[in-house]
Amino acid sequence: MASQEDVFKKLVAHCKEYGFVFPSSEIYDGLGAVYDYGQMGVELKNNIKKYWYDSMTLLHENIVGIDAAIFMHPTTWKASGHVDAFNDPLIDNKDSKKRYRADVLIEEQIAKYEEKIEKECNKAAKKFGDSFDKAMFFETNSRVKEYVTKKENLHTRFAKALNDNDLAELKQIIIDEEIVCPISGTKNWTDVRQFNLMFSTEMGASADGAMKVYLRPETAQGIFVNYLNVQKTGRMKIPFGIAQIGKAFRNEIVARQFVFRMREFEQMEMQFFVKPGTELEWFDKWKQTRLKWHKALGLGDHKYRFHDHDKLAHYANAATDIEFEMPFGFKEVEGIHSRTDFDLSQHSKYSGKKIEYFDPEINQSYTPYVIETSIGVDRMFLSVMAAAYNEEQLENGETRVVLNLPPALAPIKACIMPLVKKDGLPEKAKEIINDLKFDFRCQYDEKDSIGKRYRRQDAIGTPFCITVDHDTLNDNCVTIRHRDTMLQERVSIANLANIINQKVSMKDLFKNQLI
Ligand code: ATP
Repeated sequence: MASQEDVFKKLVAHCKEYGFVFPSSEIYDGLGAVYDYGQMGVELKNNIKKYWYDSMTLLHENIVGIDAAIFMHPTTWKASGHVDAFNDPLIDNKDSKKRYRADVLIEEQIAKYEEKIEKECNKAAKKFGDSFDKAMFFETNSRVKEYVTKKENLHTRFAKALNDNDLAELKQIIIDEEIVCPISGTKNWTDVRQFNLMFSTEMGASADGAMKVYLRPETAQGIFVNYLNVQKTGRMKIPFGIAQIGKAFRNEIVARQFVFRMREFEQMEMQFFVKPGTELEWFDKWKQTRLKWHKALGLGDHKYRFHDHDKLAHYANAATDIEFEMPFGFKEVEGIHSRTDFDLSQHSKYSGKKIEYFDPEINQSYTPYVIETSIGVDRMFLSVMAAAYNEEQLENGETRVVLNLPPALAPIKACIMPLVKKDGLPEKAKEIINDLKFDFRCQYDEKDSIGKRYRRQDAIGTPFCITVDHDTLNDNCVTIRHRDTMLQERVSIANLANIINQKVSMKDLFKNQLI
């Protein structure tokens, strides 16, 4: 079986070969952790964004969208705390000269203990079969007990160091745990330092009159500074939400793992404004709502888990991540945070404007509390691709590479193919496309054998291939081939739109979330 690393490498290669993702400015050897989406990638990405945006704004009457600018008044970032505290702890290995995030090195060490525990469990489960009692095993097996203790101690120590902002202790943990640099294999580490992740530039013509501005590191602040505008002009009543999709920029220290961690990426964020005191109830509701959104895609329920934060940001009173099982382990795709009234209060303080809500039900004004759901488009893209990528062993001994994408997200919905390039078949195929193209993104392909054409569409995840043959000219029927089952059926051209629509419409995805 291929290792997880091989699977990931293959996925990255596939993304490039089929026009999903290219390294940025590749002819100049690329730019670290910046990527461009190609002709297929942009379609998949747009479909993901539509699924999110419509789920927010169509399914919830009290959520509206905005599109705020990337540049914001610099005081925004002072008020939000980003100028002073948007830092990552970094550490360098003196031998390899490679830079790492100290917190990530320690998290990986915790994951190693977890893996060891799981391995022991799997071994015992195999050995004891049906009589295996996991709870008992944890209590009695000395090796597992040792790993659990080590893991828990490390976890406690790590959480405390993060909360105390104790950089020396983070380094000490790395030394005590004997964590080595994966490149040099040595423990020759520098001290841990803080590094601000915001990119800055200058706005204005003359050097002395220019103002230092930042490329936003999150889209959320564009929502907070517009809270009053939207609430007043939209006559919004609490609880209500504002949703936004847009670019964000972070000067990430360690930028590996493809589109998982980029320096320029895209976020889909929704801030939900609630009455103080009700926020934890809403936090739980949004946790469930967001998990349903993910699961409705059918990528596999077992691939998701919640991960509660060890260190709450200074503004939060509850926070969790939705993690997805990527080829390199369970990783955060989305964060859900109860941000209290921190952001609105800070903006009120720094701007000198009153930012409140008059609640007619209790005849009182208050600063609303906020629940945030924040998901990266690119990480979502990666999780969909990772779950969809399959190498199938066919009965005839061949392998086929297929993307089992949720049909509603697939870049191309149908490919229309004339069996041969003559006898009026291409014309008939074009006639069909000209009818379908108003509703569905279609491709036309007349090159190579039908088998090869099927494979090309499998590789980009097209749910339907439609073949026009000589009989079509008489009976107005075509052969439709289903991507996942490879089954073929003869259907009337008049039914095509219906058949495709049933599979590729987002309606079922929306409905599945409401169950
Ligand atoms: P991490 O701990 O992985 O750096 P984070 O906790 O800083 O992520 P948030 O600030 O909560 O991330 O951002 C919300 C979402 O934005 C994340 O769940 C992720 O999907 C996405 N995101 C954050 N940073 C990046 C990045 N550098 N590249 C791609 N997506 C990102």
